[in-house]
Amino acid sequence: MASSLTAIGTRDIFDADHDMFRELARSFFENEVAPFHAEWEAAGEVPRELWTKAGELGLLSNMVPEEYGGLGLDCKYPAIMWEEQSYSGCTGPGFAMHSDIVAPYITNYGTEEQKSRILPKLVSGEWIGALAMTEPGAGSDFANIKTTAKKDGDDYIINGSKVFITNGWLCDVVIVCAKTDSTKGAHGVSLFLVEEGMAGFQKGKKLKKMGMKAQDTAELFFEDLRVPASAMLGPENKGFYCVMQELPQERLLIGDMGVAAAEAVFEWTKDYTMDRKAFKGSLSDLQTVKHKLAEMKTEVTVARSFMDQCIQLHSEHRLDTNMASMAKYYGSDLQSKIANDGVQLHGGWGYMWEYPVCRAYVDARVQSIYGGANEIMKEVIGRSIVSTK
Ligand SMILES: Cc1cc2nc3c(=O)[nH]c(=O)nc-3n(C[C@H](O)[C@H](O)[C@H](O)COP(=O)(O)OP(=O)(O)OC[C@H]3O[C@@H](n4cnc5c(N)ncnc54)[C@H](O)[C@@H]3O)c2cc1C
Repeated sequence: MASSLTAIGTRDIFDADHDMFRELARSFFENEVAPFHAEWEAAGEVPRELWTKAGELGLLSNMVPEEYGGLGLDCKYPAIMWEEQSYSGCTGPGFAMHSDIVAPYITNYGTEEQKSRILPKLVSGEWIGALAMTEPGAGSDFANIKTTAKKDGDDYIINGSKVFITNGWLCDVVIVCAKTDSTKGAHGVSLFLVEEGMAGFQKGKKLKKMGMKAQDTAELFFEDLRVPASAMLGPENKGFYCVMQELPQERLLIGDMGVAAAEAVFEWTKDYTMDRKAFKGSLSDLQTVKHKLAEMKTEVTVARSFMDQCIQLHSEHRLDTNMASMAKYYGSDLQSKIANDGVQLHGGWGYMWEYPVCRAYVDARVQSIYGGANEIMKEVIGRSIVSTK
């Protein structure tokens, strides 16, 4: 048993190269992100230079194949980034959305022109990517989106709006889900690559959130936005199919970040209760506190084991939607539970913004809502149980 749940070199699924990459990622978050994060919380966004710095170090979109400027790495490298960002307690940079959701859509469904023009810019951090599915009137009920893309000669005209879009304020390219056939529900959705500066594309305000305050989340508006047919990503009316294919990685990402955040909260809480003097000893000498630490560590360690199995399966392209849904639901729920326990054991200090456990508590809350709400995850898992009868 390692002395810390965040110790490097302790997990079987990673090799020496992964561990070296983890050292690099850890030092990046410690030196380039953590010291400035409070400033960025006030600004509601992180500076663009951070993205290019991350790009220079090979920390962005590193699964992108080498021919498009990437490093062609396996999915354990992005997992290391998700975990190291969570360990740092700095949720500001929307790297995971950019690197491990947007870039894979373009890698997997883009035309040669789209891939060779856009992917190198995502890898370098020159461009920031976003994905716009949710609308004011449709989140979980994706089939009900109202944004349309109507064919006009060789072009499409997009009208509608999106809300809660991660990286929405900073983005240079956004994958927009729009109905190309309004009679077919989810099977009438297509994806479009919309770029900053296109006439008819407007960004709304940065939304004020409960947590993740340094991460920009915005509304997007499309008014008679004319795009050429070459802006379509993937086949017409197959947007929902593309989304379904990409879900395991998105769900794994959220679950793994959840467990990593829980590992960090456990470590901070362990240190705090061992240092905090009370009743002629340390808080951690009290049996109820010691037992709570034991429960927290057990729960997080068990979850880590499952999550590592999912990461391993994903690296072998064997993680299915069902298991990924379990990872998302369990990892994010556990994250909130452990953050709540951590705040409690920090007493009043746990309620103070300057303590990372305080921020971890509010940052955790959204994890069970986005990326498919946990109720939807249970529906997916439940359906697979019942359908095997
Ligand atoms: C900080 C943040 C970042 C986000 N980033 C993005 C992004 O980058 N791109 C993007 O497209 N979206 C993004 N979202 C949107 C997010 O994915 C949605 O909020 C989420 O899918 C839920 O949709 P909704 O808000 O419309 O809630 P609703 O769908 O209205 O759901 C409300 C409640 O009802 C429950 N519910 C709904 N349907 C069912 C059902 N069938 N069975 C049981 N319960 C159900 C839900 O679980 C939830 O508890 C983000 C949201 C936030 C808050």
